[in-house]
Amino acid sequence: MYDALFRAQLDELKADGNYRHFAELERHRGQFPAATHHGAQREVTIWCSNDYLGMGQHPAVLQAMHSALDTCGAGSGGTRNISGTTHEHVLLEAELADLHGKQAALLFTSGYVSNWASLGTLGARIPGLMILSDALNHASMIEGIRHSKAERIIWKHNDLADLERHLAALPLDRPKLIAFESVYSMDGDIAPIAEICDLAKRYNAMTYLDEVHAVGLYGPRGGGIAEREGLMRRIDVIQGTLGKAYGVTGGYIAASATLCDVIRSFASGFIFTTALPPAVAAGARAAVAHLKRSDLERAAQRRAVASVREALDRIGVPHLPNPSHIIPLMVGCPQKCRYIADRLLAEHAIYIQPINYPTVPRGTERLRITPSPVHSAEDIRRLALGLEALWAECQLARRPIAAQ
Ligand SMILES: *Cc1c(COP(=O)(O)O)cnc(C)c1O
Repeated sequence: MYDALFRAQLDELKADGNYRHFAELERHRGQFPAATHHGAQREVTIWCSNDYLGMGQHPAVLQAMHSALDTCGAGSGGTRNISGTTHEHVLLEAELADLHGKQAALLFTSGYVSNWASLGTLGARIPGLMILSDALNHASMIEGIRHSKAERIIWKHNDLADLERHLAALPLDRPKLIAFESVYSMDGDIAPIAEICDLAKRYNAMTYLDEVHAVGLYGPRGGGIAEREGLMRRIDVIQGTLGKAYGVTGGYIAASATLCDVIRSFASGFIFTTALPPAVAAGARAAVAHLKRSDLERAAQRRAVASVREALDRIGVPHLPNPSHIIPLMVGCPQKCRYIADRLLAEHAIYIQPINYPTVPRGTERLRITPSPVHSAEDIRRLALGLEALWAECQLARRPIAAQ
């Protein structure tokens, strides 16, 4: 009886073309973005990874992980409160607080959990709080806000006038929190952080910024867009992940010591779960520390992004313009999007996951490309060849070839 119910729901997903098929990959350390695709049984080049800088195979990260594993063993052995706070956790939190110029930082098992737990706790602990949430905020923020039971307003994506209209309609002395992201991962656009901070100041609001797609990648020390723009001090809570540009796993917030203490003391999603393994904390710390000192990876990534965009312009394949490292190729049809991805894989050994509804709105189905310092000129050449052939075959709109 239950099984039939579940099957009906899965069938519905499949009928809509929204059923998720996972690519079973085996990444090759030292050769990433090369990997074995077990489903297709072949070697492929990954073009859609969030290991944006290849830090997941960086020797300093692996060395730190091996060393911590050999010294401390596998797991942390407990929640943070009951024997699970290892020296590595404390060192990593200090590294992250320093990264963002904050008094403190707090680690979570993932970026998702950090958003969910932090927003959930802030919303529940500040009486009468109104949360103003950008319409394109990540699921983890939305779920955290919902869990908090605080009142909320969804403002139009990156729309300062709409945000101000909502703020101005609230009593000045009512507690407010503006929750938003810096780099939005599907369109690659960037929030007007300074202007949002100005509004927050004018209307007495706290600011909560998800820098998941920016930490490690922007700013002279990898502190994110807020660091690049000299705005870290104006943000109350900066949230990030250790699983994307830092190449390991885990999430965190950086904020005042008091705010971190409140989350540490009241957030169920922080308290009642086993702490990250010390080797994970050690690897993440090595990645954060490395990217504070080294700009090589960021510079090489910017060059790779520029080369891919130039290659796309040469073959007339339209890509959404944006000021970030994310290159969305708009296909606008779920079947074509999946077809192109399947053929890229089968004929060109290129793996790009098609992005369909509900991750993005219907009609904006896309291939999301994330060039990295570990993609070679030859990888880019092969990507352009494959896309050119498929764009022609699918009769997708082309841009006039750029005159150069
Ligand atoms: C991926 C993501 C998260 C969650 O981070 P994880 O460490 O992967 O759990 C949070 N916010 C945004 C915007 C993300 O894209």
